[in-house]
Amino acid sequence: MADASRKLPENVPGKWYVDDTCTPCHVCLDEAPMLLKYNDDQSYVFFFKQPSNPEEEDAAVRALDICPTGAIGNDG
Ligand code: SF4
Repeated sequence: MADASRKLPENVPGKWYVDDTCTPCHVCLDEAPMLLKYNDDQSYVFFFKQPSNPEEEDAAVRALDICPTGAIGNDG
């Protein structure tokens, strides 16, 4: 389960976040490329955009569900 106290600082403000347990394995990027991307050296991913419609909320949930390390969380 993601830990809000370990949010990566690059996450755009909002309820969805990636914490510092991201490996990164890439699989979440297949589910939510409109929300998540790599940092500059590709050592982790972060939310560059918060979901703003039901389709994007569903994509964020799929990314959370598929993350093998439980690095994706939401405060909502
Ligand atoms: S699925 Fe999880 S561990 Fe893999 S890149 Fe995404 S946030 Fe990181």
